[in-house]
Amino acid sequence: MHQAIDIEALCAQRGLRITDQRRVIAKVLSESTDHPDVEALHERASAIDPRISIATVYRTVRLFEEAGILDRHDFGDGRSRYEAAPEAHHDHLIDVETGKVIEFVDPELEALQRLIAEKLGYRLVDHRMELYGVRLERDA
Ligand SMILES: [Zn+2]
Repeated sequence: MHQAIDIEALCAQRGLRITDQRRVIAKVLSESTDHPDVEALHERASAIDPRISIATVYRTVRLFEEAGILDRHDFGDGRSRYEAAPEAHHDHLIDVETGKVIEFVDPELEALQRLIAEKLGYRLVDHRMELYGVRLERDA
């Protein structure tokens, strides 16, 4: 699901000016396979270019988000987490003990959501689904 998305190319498509620092942040985001928050992004970006400040990371992710390049998630702990806007839709299950985020797609769930919207007189155009769970004992 996390096929590497070329954020720099998306910026170019949308006419966003790409500075050296934005390019580094775009690269870090493109290569992230998790859902990093701003602190984690700053850590990774400043390892490449120590001049990148956390304020720059904040501004850049906001810019990318407004351009529709990034999706922002809040998985219940009040922190914003980011991922490149996926071409193929997926939903998230969050392990509330570890914060681990698992991505899934379920065709039946997708169909059911469309059906619910239709019953209410709507054509579904988007949705967000977040499941929160604790891991089952595997040997119980
Ligand atoms: Zn995701």
